[in-house]
Amino acid sequence: MCLCVYLCICVCVYALLSVCAFVCVVCLIGIYLSFPLSPTSFCLIFINNEWHDSVSGKVFSTYNPTTGEKICDVQEADKADVDKAVQAARSAFSLGSVWRKMDASERGKLLFKLADLVERDSAYLATLESLDTGKPFLSSFFVDLQGIIKTFRYFAGWADKIHGSTIPTDGEYFTLTRHEPIGVCGQIVPWNFPLVMTAWKLGPALSCGNTVVLKPAEQTPLTCLYIGALIKEAGFPPGVVNILPGYGPTAGAAIASHMGIDKVAFTGSTEVGKLIQEAAGKSNLKRVTLELGGKSPNIIFADADFELAVEQAHQGVFFNNGQCCTAGSRIFVEEPIYDEFVRRSVERARRRTVGNPFDPTIEQGPQVSAEQQSRVLELIQSGITEGAKLECGGKAPPSKGFFVEPTVFSDVQDHMRIAKEEIFGPVQQIMKFKTIEEVIERANDTEYGLAAAVFTTDLNKAMTVSAALQAGTVWINCYNALSCQCPFGGFKMSGNGRELGEIGLKEYTEVKTITMKMSGKKS
Ligand code: NAP
Ligand code: MG
Repeated sequence: MCLCVYLCICVCVYALLSVCAFVCVVCLIGIYLSFPLSPTSFCLIFINNEWHDSVSGKVFSTYNPTTGEKICDVQEADKADVDKAVQAARSAFSLGSVWRKMDASERGKLLFKLADLVERDSAYLATLESLDTGKPFLSSFFVDLQGIIKTFRYFAGWADKIHGSTIPTDGEYFTLTRHEPIGVCGQIVPWNFPLVMTAWKLGPALSCGNTVVLKPAEQTPLTCLYIGALIKEAGFPPGVVNILPGYGPTAGAAIASHMGIDKVAFTGSTEVGKLIQEAAGKSNLKRVTLELGGKSPNIIFADADFELAVEQAHQGVFFNNGQCCTAGSRIFVEEPIYDEFVRRSVERARRRTVGNPFDPTIEQGPQVSAEQQSRVLELIQSGITEGAKLECGGKAPPSKGFFVEPTVFSDVQDHMRIAKEEIFGPVQQIMKFKTIEEVIERANDTEYGLAAAVFTTDLNKAMTVSAALQAGTVWINCYNALSCQCPFGGFKMSGNGRELGEIGLKEYTEVKTITMKMSGKKS
């Protein structure tokens, strides 16, 4: 009897969840289809607050990675369109233009308005983001969109608080500094967080009074283009923001080497980051900020809160379908708890739900493209060949979408490719260590230095390790705790410069020193 009641409850709960999932998917598709702007109305090039066809007449397609089906065609920008956009951005930045004459507090108001519009359309934007990238809708809505709104508001607040100082120079002089906008900023964005990266770049650039030529990744142009419509609706003057969907080697390269662009901000692979820096050097020495890859260590001591460490290590790798530059993909576990940690991590990975990103019970969607799926599977194969122990996963489940099973490797050695290369997929590497000195040395033995984490209840150990790690961000007893108030960026080959926070804002200014001769001695 008891068992019957129990089974009935289980069936009811399951039915309720399925109904909720179904209702949720139907509602989202309803929102998506009923919205005044269908993708075809904004899959154009956005220059001067107007929608343009490409100069070449070419288009490219964007795909839904959950099904492998085409969503729509997008106009393909290349060098000729970049030239047009740079001209528009230069004119918007010219002395005496509306944008240059605008009060800083008014710039702030426009950014606040943009944040409000993103908030108004957040269900639509999150739906579009999940459709184009495959990331779980709940994550797009509650993590990405909420973060984006906060980022725009954070930088909106800064607009009229960007000021220099007066300096006590020797002699009969009066000196002050001004933090001025740099000019036209090229911005190149990746596919793993298309909207978040757009906000991280647009927010500080506009707050400081720059103009922008922005290229989204070829795999995920839709949400970024929709932001163009909101830029216009918010009331930004024409030419302040220009958005050019297109390919890296054509449109991206044209931005990096353009003589009319004063700064380029890039997020993506280290390989392309080097090309950007080289192009800047060969052209006009434009300012360059780079947010590149990582192979971040996550160090778990035996005295850590075990449950917390297992769950955070899991989320630290698998969040966003494993496609995070910060992924804690080298997990060093202290010897006494190693076997149990592996057992529990495997158990957790096996429970991870994979499927349609619009199903609210799903934790993991597909990889962004067939190319990324193959790359991840190839690296998994290298792990097996090099002798790591495949504990679970390792395959692509049968589907038209680009899925990869949650995968865990134990007995991973530092020299293996899976311990050295950025996998950018749902693959966890677990290694063993014995001493604090050993683990610090091994954690730092990488060309990357983006992020790191340490799990321990010993404050001294936490601070000793945090100070010794070569990484732009170190988390203690948490993972991926990012916020728009805190600077983010990499040591070593993980990048140059910082995004977010006051330091990230200053990356969008030039400092001018003004010195005036005084008549008579200063008092
Ligand atoms: P990627 O090639 O570095 O692409 C990032 C951005 O740069 C895209 O907008 C891309 O345009 C553009 N780009 C490509 N070649 C360019 C060039 N020669 N000049 C100027 N811009 C160029 O990254 P991906 O191919 O998408 O992914 C490859 C690997 O990069 C991933 O597996 C991952 O390891 C890493 N990645 C890191 C991050 C991160 O957040 N740090 C993000 C994404 C990828 P197209 O999209 O049109 O090629
Ligand atoms: Mg797509």
